[in-house]
Amino acid sequence: MAETKRDYYEVLGVDRNADDATLKKAYRALAKKYHPDMNPGDAEAEKKFKEASEAYAVLSDPDKRRQYDQFGHAAFDGASGGGSGFGGFDFNSSDFGDIFGDIFGDLFGGGARRSGRANSGPMKGANIRKGVRITFEEAVFGCEKELEVVLKDPCTRCGGTGAKPGTSPETCPKCGGRGQVVYTSQSFFGTVQNVQTCPDCHGTGKVIRDKCPDCGGSGYISSRRKIKVTIPAGIDNGQSVRIREKGEPGTGGGPRGDLLVEVTVSRHPIFQRQDMHIFSTAPISFAQAALGGDVRIKTVDGEVIYTVKPGTKTDTKVRLKGKGVPSVRNSQVRGDHYVTLVIQTPEYLSAEAKEALRRFDELAGNTLHSADMASEEPKKKKKGFMDKLKETFEE
Ligand SMILES: [Zn+2]
Ligand SMILES: [Zn+2]
Repeated sequence: MAETKRDYYEVLGVDRNADDATLKKAYRALAKKYHPDMNPGDAEAEKKFKEASEAYAVLSDPDKRRQYDQFGHAAFDGASGGGSGFGGFDFNSSDFGDIFGDIFGDLFGGGARRSGRANSGPMKGANIRKGVRITFEEAVFGCEKELEVVLKDPCTRCGGTGAKPGTSPETCPKCGGRGQVVYTSQSFFGTVQNVQTCPDCHGTGKVIRDKCPDCGGSGYISSRRKIKVTIPAGIDNGQSVRIREKGEPGTGGGPRGDLLVEVTVSRHPIFQRQDMHIFSTAPISFAQAALGGDVRIKTVDGEVIYTVKPGTKTDTKVRLKGKGVPSVRNSQVRGDHYVTLVIQTPEYLSAEAKEALRRFDELAGNTLHSADMASEEPKKKKKGFMDKLKETFEE
């Protein structure tokens, strides 16, 4: 070629004794600056990019660097016979991919390069997520559920290789086993465009000619498995239970991923929950509110009896200590149940009841009830209600 070529060291702007790291750093900076993707339509940038790529391809290869040091550009003249001015190596060759792969991987976020590499050491398998719906009470007290999960296991027929027994996976001819390919444009002299995961082997570097009949070449067999899940008391809506090593198989001898069981708690018709506390409302009659007396209140532990004080107003809140939700960490610790007492106004009354109410109205404002209550309470005591409630209630 007639064109005079610049010295490779000069092109990269490095000393003749520059080590590999320095070369790489210098080339990376230039490649980033002049890469055609960054400078669309800029012929000068493209030329600079090619020049730097060529210089780096030579100097990063110990053999070629030695030849170049000895003979200069003459070392490569005519070697390819293509007269391209860039003889001696081939942008399509696999070693070119190796030289540039890591640089362009870094430069252009080529995550595929790393993840695509075969045999990259033990890797934990992916987690599997699975949902389960439980009742309000199951969340409060804990429960056991059986889930059906599709799990993959290495195929025993082929030992996980995916190849028909008696055969083995072959090195991918497209990428030479590297799992990645370098795409070049063929214009002036091949311009590096991109390093991509090999489409033929999907980055594994291996292809399977005769697929294992059991697993169809995947190397895994899927099967439905029943898995028992212990859901702890106190779990809340949206929380997950982790079951170790029931996820996807690991690779390279790594452990399986985990199974994450996400819990959805159904709504309860009367209870609401906030953290460890339960909230509900309980109806009381006008007479109970005025006179005081025992009312039955539903809790997650069953019905309890609460003694309403005489003269209780509507929306009075009472606390049933320790009737809430257990702590998911320590089931001995429980929250409380807060009850809002709501006075019910009677809608349908018998003639007799109406008459009594009218009579009441006439008498209202009297200090009537202290006497009545004294006679009411012992009656109720006989029914045995009082004893029960003392243990549970406290306002
Ligand atoms: Zn198989
Ligand atoms: Zn391949």
